[in-house]
Amino acid sequence: MTPDHYHLSCPVCGLTYRDTYQSGCPSGCTSLLRAEYTQKQITIRNLPGVFRFSDWLPVRGSLQTRAAPVSYQSSGLAKELGLSNLRISFSGYWPEKGAYVTSGSFKEFEALPTTVRLRERASGVILVASAGNTGRAFAEVSAETGQPVIVVVPKKAVSRIRTSRRADHLLLIAVDGDYTDAITLGNGLSSIPGVFPEGGAKNVARRDGMGTVMVESVLTSGRMPDWYVQAVGSGTGGISAWEAGLRLVNDGRFGSSLPHLLLIQNHPFTPMVNAWNAGRREIIGDLDMQNPVESIGKVFSDVLTNRAPPYGISGGVYDALSGTGGSMLTASTPDAQAAFDLFLDLEGIDPDPAAAVAVAGLIHAVESELIPVDDSILLAITGGGYERIARDISPVENKPLIMVQAGTDPADIADQVRAWVNRYV
Ligand SMILES: *Cc1c(COP(=O)(O)O)cnc(C)c1O
Ligand SMILES: [Zn+2]
Repeated sequence: MTPDHYHLSCPVCGLTYRDTYQSGCPSGCTSLLRAEYTQKQITIRNLPGVFRFSDWLPVRGSLQTRAAPVSYQSSGLAKELGLSNLRISFSGYWPEKGAYVTSGSFKEFEALPTTVRLRERASGVILVASAGNTGRAFAEVSAETGQPVIVVVPKKAVSRIRTSRRADHLLLIAVDGDYTDAITLGNGLSSIPGVFPEGGAKNVARRDGMGTVMVESVLTSGRMPDWYVQAVGSGTGGISAWEAGLRLVNDGRFGSSLPHLLLIQNHPFTPMVNAWNAGRREIIGDLDMQNPVESIGKVFSDVLTNRAPPYGISGGVYDALSGTGGSMLTASTPDAQAAFDLFLDLEGIDPDPAAAVAVAGLIHAVESELIPVDDSILLAITGGGYERIARDISPVENKPLIMVQAGTDPADIADQVRAWVNRYV
């Protein structure tokens, strides 16, 4: 067997480990393990989609895909905001720009390497509890490649798990309840042998897959930007951009300063902004997340409403912001709505609502002079092109194979899930 081109390292104890699909430090530290790659200088590989960045992905193999981030120099939005160097990274579907993310968001850059990493490092099936972009991204990868996946969603979100063709190797489980009920059921099913939870920010394939947004832009433009701007719910994309920046500094060809992160949350649900602006590493629920149900009901983008983000954990969002001289801002729902219209008008494609929040945050940052107009900026449009997807691809709905009431004991469906998993493991 060829030796691995990376190992996992713990930012707390400093020890390194072979990747056996562990999600935490084997020595018991509370931290995000990081992948460290043998190749200090990245070489673009002749591989499909995002796998062309495999030097810095925790995978050997690849899948057939055209999904990869695409960046370009903005003229429309740049002129409107008076910016001399605004680069847009577009993670969605926009054929004229060469962007073919058929599920519509950068979660597909996570789903692709995660699927391969699991296949190479363990024997099993990924389980994702997500009502939104993550669930659809994994279902799409499954539909396109035949890799099995389990997706647990609230019943009312079943229609969101559309794929470009029918996903025959998708076990879609619908819960007659809300998102929290789906997560609870998913957690209960994760103890079935061969079932692996997707892992969120702890999953290095997720982070390094999302990190390709920064990598692609820097390789294409030839230099590191001064700023990386993204709307966040968990902040995993921000952590990923920081880690990619560290690798790019180490690469040596693109500059020696890390891009400052500007991370934006959608008012009124802004727990990380509140904690960060109070100078705290900890999110305090009573202070930072008052009336969460009510405030979550008022946001423009519900993918930005994570209640337990990897903020304070070692190697998490707080460290990413501290390590890059970063900032956090909020953007209101009306501002995000206006930014959506502006972006569509000036750049010519519909952004994901979360990406519209990022545009609104960038506008605030320029108006308040947090970002000088001549700084180089990388704006992460983390999803978009849904109108084109609906028109060109007409994605199909997938039928749930299992439907349960909220609060169902996972043991009641464990046999059925086990039988399905055993077809693949
Ligand atoms: C998930 C998501 C985000 C937020 O990502 P983080 O995990 O918080 O970095 C932003 N935009 C889109 C389109 C998303 O799907
Ligand atoms: Zn450790």
